[in-house]
Amino acid sequence: MTAEIIDGKNFAAGLRARVATLARSFAEATGRAPGLAVVLVGEDPASQVYVRAKHKATTEAGMESFEHRLPADTGEEALLDLVRALNADDAVDGILVQLPLPSHIDENAVIAAIDPGKDVDGFHPINAGRLAAGLDGFVPCTPLGCLMLLRDRLGDLSGLDAVVIGRSNIVGKPMAQLLLQQSCTVTIAHSRTRDLPDVVRRADIVVAAVGRPEMVKGGWLKPGAAVIDVGINRVAAGEGKTRLVGDVDFAEAVEVAGAITPVPGGVGPMTIAVLLRNTLVAAHRHAGLALTPDAL
Ligand code: NDP
Repeated sequence: MTAEIIDGKNFAAGLRARVATLARSFAEATGRAPGLAVVLVGEDPASQVYVRAKHKATTEAGMESFEHRLPADTGEEALLDLVRALNADDAVDGILVQLPLPSHIDENAVIAAIDPGKDVDGFHPINAGRLAAGLDGFVPCTPLGCLMLLRDRLGDLSGLDAVVIGRSNIVGKPMAQLLLQQSCTVTIAHSRTRDLPDVVRRADIVVAAVGRPEMVKGGWLKPGAAVIDVGINRVAAGEGKTRLVGDVDFAEAVEVAGAITPVPGGVGPMTIAVLLRNTLVAAHRHAGLALTPDAL
C-alpha cells in the first residue's frame, strides 16, 4: 500500500484564503482590520524565523500585525507590563508571546497574564481548562490544525483508536483532548511508555509530537492508519547541508499507512493558518460580531 499524502500546505492555503475574505468583511463592518500582536524576546534564530513568517501571513490575510521585539535581557516585569498594555489595546484582538522565553522569565506567569479572550495561542490555563471541559475557548494552533487535516481526510472520527505520542501542553495534551471530543479512544504515549511500537500498532490514528527524527518506524503502524507527523527536526544531509525530517520515518511509513502528512508541507503550514483563524475569531468576539465557525 502507498499512503495518500495529506497536503497540509494546500489545505492551509485554502484556510488562509477563507480567513482573508472574512477579515475583509470584518474590516468593512467595523472600520478596522483584525489585529495580532506578536512579542519576541531575544534573538533565538528559529523564533525569529517564526515571527517573520507570522508577520507576513498576518498582513497577507489583511490583518494588522503589531510586532514587539525586546532585547534578551528584558525583565519579567517589563514583559508583563507590555502584555497588560496589549490586553488593554482595542486595536489588538490576539496576543502571541513567542516561546521559548529567556530562562530568567517565568513563561507560565507571562502566559497567565494574557487576557484569555486574546490568547490566540490557546496556552492560557483558562483556555486549556475550557478545552478539557468541552467548552468554547481558544485551542492551540498546531493540534487544531492536525484535527482539521484528520477531519478532512477521515470525516467522522468516532470510535477510532488514536495514539498521541508526546504530552506537551502545546501539542500532545490538547491534541488528545480534541480527539477525545471527537469520540476517539485516545492513548497518550510519552518517554516512559512501555513498548511504544505495540501501543502504536493498535492505532487507526497516530499523531507524533516528540521531537526525535524519524523515530516512528513503518513496522510500528497498523496498515491503513492515518499518520500526522508534527515533528520538525533538522538533520545533517551531507556536504555540510541539512534537511528537515519529521518524527516519523516517512519512507517506511508511506508504504504502510493509509494517509500521512509529509515534513515539510504537512502540519507546519497549518499552525500559522490556524493562528490567523483564531485571531479572526477573537476579533469577532471582541467586536460583538457573530462568526459561524463552519465558515472556516
Ligand atoms: P516537547 O519536547 O515539549 O514534548 C515532547 C514529548 O515527546 C514529551 O511528552 C516526551 O515525553 C515525548 N518523548 C520524548 N522522547 C520520547 C520517546 N523516546 N518515546 C515516546 N515519547 C517521547 O515537544 P513539543 O510537543 O513542543 O514538540 C514536539 C515536536 O513537534 C518537535 O519536533 C517540535 O519541533 C514540533 N512542533 C511542530 C510544530 C509545527 O508547527 N509543526 C509546532 C510545535 C511543535 P515526556 O513528557 O515523558 O518527556
